[in-house]
This record gives sequence, C-alpha cells and structure tokens, in this order.
Amino acid sequence: MAKARLRIAALYPEQLNIYADRGNIAVLESRCRWRSIESHVTAVGLGETIDPERFDLIYLGGGQDDDQRRCAADLLEHKRSGLIAAAANGAVLLGICGGYQLFGHWYELADERIEGVGILNVETVRGKGPRLIGNVAVETSLPGASPRAVLAGFENHGGRTRLIGGGAPLGRVIKGNGNDGVSGEEGCRDGNVIGTYLHGPLLPANCWFADWLIATAIGASAELAPLDDALELAAHKAACAAAGVNG
Ligand code: GLN
Repeated sequence: MAKARLRIAALYPEQLNIYADRGNIAVLESRCRWRSIESHVTAVGLGETIDPERFDLIYLGGGQDDDQRRCAADLLEHKRSGLIAAAANGAVLLGICGGYQLFGHWYELADERIEGVGILNVETVRGKGPRLIGNVAVETSLPGASPRAVLAGFENHGGRTRLIGGGAPLGRVIKGNGNDGVSGEEGCRDGNVIGTYLHGPLLPANCWFADWLIATAIGASAELAPLDDALELAAHKAACAAAGVNG
C-alpha cells in the first residue's frame, strides 16, 4: 500500500547543481502534488548527517571537480553511513554525473584520488581524452517499467566510469558516450541505488523515469494515477530527436 508521501533529501543543493539539476527535484515535487501525494524536500548541506529513517529518496546532483572534492570529503565524514542505511531500508538514491561518480568507489584525477561512498560498483578515472559532451539516448530495462524504455538527456563529463565487481549498467547507449564512450554502458543500478551521467535536467524530459522513481520510493503497489503529460512527452521527443533517435 502506498504511503502517498515522498520525503526527499537534496544533498548539497548549493554545491552540486550543475545544469540546473535541481529541476529534477521540481519535477518530483510537481508530479507528487498533481496526484495529491504529499512531498517534502529537505536540503542536506555540508556538515550535516542523514537520518536514514527520514527519507524515501536521496538525490545527489552533479558538479565541477572542485565542488565534488569538497563534497566528497563531507560525504565520507558525515553522510556515508546514513546513505548505506537508507539504501538498505529501500530508499531510492539517485546520483547525477558528479553525484554518480561519488556514489562509486573513487574518482581519480591526475595525481589524486577522490574517495567515493562506494555504494555503486563503479570507478571513475579522469584520463587524458577530451570531455565527453553531447546529447545522449539510453535504452533501459527497469523492473516494472516498459521494456526498452528510453532515457534521453545531455552529458558533459571528463571522468570515464567503469563498472567493477559485478556492477550493472542502468542502460545501453543508443547515441552518445555514456560511462566511458567505449563500453556502450550508461550509468549503474544496484537495486534502488542509481547513478547516471544524464543531465538535461534528466526528469523533465523523462517523466516516465520520474514516475518510476516516485513509485519505487513510496512503494506504490498500484500504478500511479496518470497525468496529462502532453508537454512532458513533447520534451522527451525533443530530447530524443536532439540525440538523433525517435522518442
Ligand atoms: N566533474 C565531473 C567530470 O567532469 C562531473 C561533471 C558533471 O557533473 N557534469 O567528470
């Protein structure tokens, strides 16, 4: 039975909010409100801990290397155990780009290694090549979602991410680079813990995925009430077209 309540933690909204990633939070709130599902967003900043009982969905956006560096140290010191406990409780954890990298084991730059939370089995290396930038489309297979549902968005990352230790991708790249530009893999998912390189922001252009996150986070056994998604579907189609695929 659905709790009809979504409690969201937005981690480091000041530091990790590149490409207006906070738009993802706005989409979650709106789609809940339109269905009379109560939602509540708590900003969790530097120095603050996470009470794993208080959140159904925890969100970590992307950022520049410098901001990531600062937040990574804080994540390890103040938030790691709360994140692990929240995931064990069944909370959804979503990391975007820099946030995705920090959910992994480490992000290695020229002469330093930024330690991550290690909640996803990935490692990221900055390497020498050019940044991986552009529109991207990804075919997913998520439990309860349409088979081969497409996520469309935009990526811009210097880091190359590799799945390790049995980590599974979120999806397969149809167009774009994804994790490293060569593996054909995009993102990582371990149960309810998800990392992806897709900005856009992601959720305004992929409302099906926003609903998947909401349903998973609140444990809705029944389907969420349908909404008039004419604009959202047009946004999805446009994002797919930008990547060169049919939406
Ligand atoms: N700083 C990271 C990189 O360049 C993540 C960038 C981002 O979040 N867009 O790989």
